[in-house]
Amino acid sequence: MANFNKGSRGKPLEKERKKLFLEYTFLGQTGIKVSRLCFGALTIGPLQANLPPSAGAKVIKAALEMGVNFIDTAELYGTYPHIAQAIRGSRDQVVIASKSYAYTREGMAESLANACRELGTDYIDIFMLHEQESELTIRGHWEAVEYLLEAKEKGLVRAVGISTHAVRGVLAAAEFPELDVIHPLYNIRGLGILDGTREEMREAIGRAARSGKGIYAMKPLGGGNFRDNVQEAFTYILQTPGVDAVAVGMQTTHEVELNVRLVSGMPVSEELYQKVSSQSRRLHIDDWCQGCGSCVEKCPQGALELRGGKAVVRQEECLLCGYCAAACPEFVIKVV
Ligand code: SF4
Ligand code: SF4
Repeated sequence: MANFNKGSRGKPLEKERKKLFLEYTFLGQTGIKVSRLCFGALTIGPLQANLPPSAGAKVIKAALEMGVNFIDTAELYGTYPHIAQAIRGSRDQVVIASKSYAYTREGMAESLANACRELGTDYIDIFMLHEQESELTIRGHWEAVEYLLEAKEKGLVRAVGISTHAVRGVLAAAEFPELDVIHPLYNIRGLGILDGTREEMREAIGRAARSGKGIYAMKPLGGGNFRDNVQEAFTYILQTPGVDAVAVGMQTTHEVELNVRLVSGMPVSEELYQKVSSQSRRLHIDDWCQGCGSCVEKCPQGALELRGGKAVVRQEECLLCGYCAAACPEFVIKVV
């Protein structure tokens, strides 16, 4: 049984939604006010649930109605059309963060123009370099950063930042005054951190926050691997000094409501818990698996094998224990 707050048994969910409230905070020194729960859009898009834009927009709108004002996406995710539908008519009430792998000036100009066009907006609140590992990779993308800084001067972008799965990425970004926001991978077990432990990431986040950076964490639930202890996982992240907000991937309106309640410290009914936990779960291995075999060795069930240079799971033998995800250096295994 999950460690959720109990209460509200049997009450209609719709009626209770109106009473929900989320905490808001300023993201570092950006002056941008965000809900502490950020809607992670990756999960509704083609890389995961592959919802049509109208269905994805419905889930996002439910989040907006429940007080979430912060949406995280990326060029890679293919979710601009979903978000565009959801924010039509309320653009100025929503904070959008996006990211791109562009490393040249021209590439970043194209990424930003695409984002604005596809999202139906003339500015993006936070635009970031996607997946930076260290000072070296940030310097290697500096042309793109310079473009974003000029865009910021023109009002096309409100803040510039990076996303990272590495402690070194956070520490490096903390030293660049040009960067306003860091989006680090961080969770209660340190699952997926490329180069360190949970404690090392916690320390790096604290240092970056003290130097004025806005911090919103990603993968707080370990890609779905901590579903049985969601409350504890959220509490750990949100009580970490320096973490302003946390981005969580959500695929259904029930999942949105559950996360809003947990982050708000509101009671969760047994009915809602059942609705979310009854959604079918499976192990998902992303296409960019490198075929290193670490997960195969780790699986206590023998449910994984390498086929054609990639890991493949026999779902019927998988217990969803998540040990393989912890062993994967590429963070490509998730329970979805
Ligand atoms: S979740 Fe557990 S049982 Fe399933 S493949 Fe991974 S290690 Fe094996
Ligand atoms: S550990 Fe990760 S990268 Fe290595 S084979 Fe398994 S899924 Fe692929």
